[in-house]
Amino acid sequence: MQELLQSPQFQRCSRYGNYVALDPNCLFCKIITGDIPATIVFRNENVVAFNDIDPQAPTHVLIIPTLHVENAAELAKISPTLTAELFSAAAQIAQTNALTGYRTVFNTGQEAGQSVFHAHMHLLGGRGLAWPPG
Ligand code: AMP
Ligand code: ZN
Repeated sequence: MQELLQSPQFQRCSRYGNYVALDPNCLFCKIITGDIPATIVFRNENVVAFNDIDPQAPTHVLIIPTLHVENAAELAKISPTLTAELFSAAAQIAQTNALTGYRTVFNTGQEAGQSVFHAHMHLLGGRGLAWPPG
């Protein structure tokens, strides 16, 4: 992980001081830097989480790495550690929200409903969740 953060595409965020590797044209990268407002519910050196603007459940949080990559598969290829950090953040947020059960989802590709091409985990909870999903 330390090695990844020290690679040349990472820089220190001028506002938050953590290491980031961002795309200036990406909506979620702008949320990471604070240039686009969002309700941030969790932030550490490598991960940011914020409320979804169009919530599909009482808790609907998006959990993203501070590394701009297109989807979860790309993220896993670059850093299994960072991928796992998203799951750890989900568990912490679920605990904070007293969720006894929750669902984590990555949409990969337009066909699966992906609309923002910065890897993000949806954390959904606070109501019964049907299976299979739509
Ligand atoms: P996906 O469709 O899986 O790519 O998920 C993208 C999610 O981003 C959707 O659930 C949107 O509601 C959410 N979203 C889009 N713009 C914003 C924003 N400015 N702040 C918070 N969530 C957003
Ligand atoms: Zn991005």
